[in-house]
Amino acid sequence: MSTLRFHAIKESLAYKAILVEEKERRSDLFGKNVFNENTMRQYLTKNAFIGVANAIQFGKKIDRNIADQVASSMKDWALSKGVTHYTHWFQPLTGATAEKHDAFFETIGHGMAIEKFGGSQLVQQEPDASSFPSGGIRNTFEARGYTAWDPTSPAFIYETTLCIPTIFVAYTGAALDYKTPLLRALHAVDNAATAVCKYFDKNVKKVTSSLGWEQEYFLIDKMLATSRPDIILTGRTLLGHSSAKGQQLDDHYFGSIPNRALNFMRDLETECMLLGIPVKTRHNEVAPNQFELAPIFEEANLAVDHNSLLMDIMGKVAARHNFKVLFHEKPFAGVNGSGKHNNWSLSTDTGINLLAPGKTPMSNLQFLTFFINSIKAVHTHEALLRAVIASASNDHRLGANEAPPAIISVFIGEQLTKVLEELEGVTKGKLSPKEKTELKLNVVGKIPDVLLDNTDRNRTSPFAFTGNKFEFRAVGSTANCGNPMTVLNTIVAKQLKDFKVEVDTLINKKDLKKDEAIFNVLREYIKSTKDILFEGNGYGADWETEAKKRGLSHNKTTPEALKARVSKESVALFEEMKVMSKIETEARYEIEIEAYIKHIQIESRVLGDIARNHIVPTAVKYQNILIENVKGLKEIFEEKFKGVSKEQTNLIEQISSHIEGINANVTSMIDERKKANNMEDIEKKAYAYCYKVKSLFDDIRYHCDKLELLVDDEIWPLTKYRELLFTR
Ligand code: ADP
Ligand code: MG
Repeated sequence: MSTLRFHAIKESLAYKAILVEEKERRSDLFGKNVFNENTMRQYLTKNAFIGVANAIQFGKKIDRNIADQVASSMKDWALSKGVTHYTHWFQPLTGATAEKHDAFFETIGHGMAIEKFGGSQLVQQEPDASSFPSGGIRNTFEARGYTAWDPTSPAFIYETTLCIPTIFVAYTGAALDYKTPLLRALHAVDNAATAVCKYFDKNVKKVTSSLGWEQEYFLIDKMLATSRPDIILTGRTLLGHSSAKGQQLDDHYFGSIPNRALNFMRDLETECMLLGIPVKTRHNEVAPNQFELAPIFEEANLAVDHNSLLMDIMGKVAARHNFKVLFHEKPFAGVNGSGKHNNWSLSTDTGINLLAPGKTPMSNLQFLTFFINSIKAVHTHEALLRAVIASASNDHRLGANEAPPAIISVFIGEQLTKVLEELEGVTKGKLSPKEKTELKLNVVGKIPDVLLDNTDRNRTSPFAFTGNKFEFRAVGSTANCGNPMTVLNTIVAKQLKDFKVEVDTLINKKDLKKDEAIFNVLREYIKSTKDILFEGNGYGADWETEAKKRGLSHNKTTPEALKARVSKESVALFEEMKVMSKIETEARYEIEIEAYIKHIQIESRVLGDIARNHIVPTAVKYQNILIENVKGLKEIFEEKFKGVSKEQTNLIEQISSHIEGINANVTSMIDERKKANNMEDIEKKAYAYCYKVKSLFDDIRYHCDKLELLVDDEIWPLTKYRELLFTR
């Protein structure tokens, strides 16, 4: 009997759910462990409070004296809550979060000690973090990396540690993390959007980018997950025959949440409340044991931090409930994978969502300006948007096994399509008073303020307008949202900057009125961006052919897609918007392509091992049982034995052919891996891993999965899909 598998099943069946009761109201718990505005008002002097508020609002520098005061107050607050350590908390390019704890405790001689935390420790640290990926930015002799306080994301307490959100940069100032370029992109979009807003309202001083992510994940019994080497090492199943029942009946989607999962969620949500993560919705997703969690949207930088923090604590809370969380985009073949929709919008300090239609023609013209400019930005930079969501794991979605497709397009719905069609007919140059009135009354004035019901129902478009925000749906469930948010905000910033120049030129050189100029520029944008608009779900050969005709890129795999990250246009874009230098852009490309290679390399090794060391020996064992059986039958039935052992002989033959299939393919895979490993050029190497190594996975899996159907269940070593997906 296959001991680990059956042991795991037994344990998981015996597991009793921990009951989690919520004794306090969520609103009372909210933000209790966050050094937020409310806490700062209590703990900071007025001076210090204003210093921090100015840094948050206007990016003003915090001077040393204020930093000392803030640090001292943070320490007092933290000590009052039983905290012993502090850490600079950052998001290096590994995709995980990083922390290195230091105790507040310090000795002061004469056998005495105190708790100490000063401004210098708050503001900057030099963790010995030389092993994080840097894409060649740091030479080893300059291996120093610095973390620096980000006052726009509040410090928080997790367990007994005070965590201070920080950026992570090299000695030269070059970004080594997700946060640094994001903050620069948010600054760029603020500048560009505020300037455009002034056409409509002179009082606007700041535009903030908002993000509401929706995190999908699988919850798998910890023992069962641990019994699968592929899940432990790669986060997904590399083989396994699909379960007789999967998601065909749609009986999981939005169904009642299984008890054990619900207790996990309560526990998690309580942690989230304490940390100020405003989680709001939870539900079952399409696949069995798949769930989704979404917060109320927040300022983008904070939302990104909250998502990273959430992913981190989800793992910890899951362990308390004997679960393993799988964030992988496609942990199981044949059932839905996981994504992380990024809902994005821009809003002003005067309280206007720039992507929501308004009540007056003027506010609607403002809405249309931001709406059309966003579409134009996506059209110009579609390849870059595809690149920023590329990863080995997200390749399994993006048109490979499910929507959204790898072709970026924008869904805007019927009503807005009509509005754009009308605007396309606007006269060139000056508009007659009649046309202006007509436009205001019948086009711009007629946009209903509730578009929500008219938006994408099938939810498969990679970039959809959903009433008052754009929803970037192609982002993978493992992604750090900082990456797509950096790119999206940068391309929109660049677009708005160009728009302003064009409108100003028409006003100054062609003597057009402001709204005439805006209509004129928007008309041209509508004409030139039609190719990115697509209302279908993006599935199938027809759209692929059509997209090709329209000149949209279709990069199916990560090595192909990533190139757009370092195209001449992208490098220039990031430089112009002061988001990343050429060196930083190139470093990121290198890191991502290397991560791709390593992922496929690990998967290939694990698959080879499991196939050869688990599957083949099991198949041989079963085959031997069959051979013994046939021999016995021969003894009893003599010449008649062929008739009674037909099935067994047939099985013996089939097993041999699958074993042969596994061995041949694993051997080729190892050969291809060796060849790839000898390649100097990382781009060539990535292609080799993609098209020579990974391409053999399916064949190996096919033979293993066939054997799973043939071999006695009692001796099958790997926990099966039905056990992984249906044990609650
Ligand atoms: P679904 O997409 O599943 O229908 P919702 O549309 O209700 O769900 O919201 C999904 C996410 O979008 C939530 O995180 C929500 O806070 C966020 N969201 C709603 N409005 C905005 C907005 N204006 N800007 C950014 N995110 C938003
Ligand atoms: Mg959504």
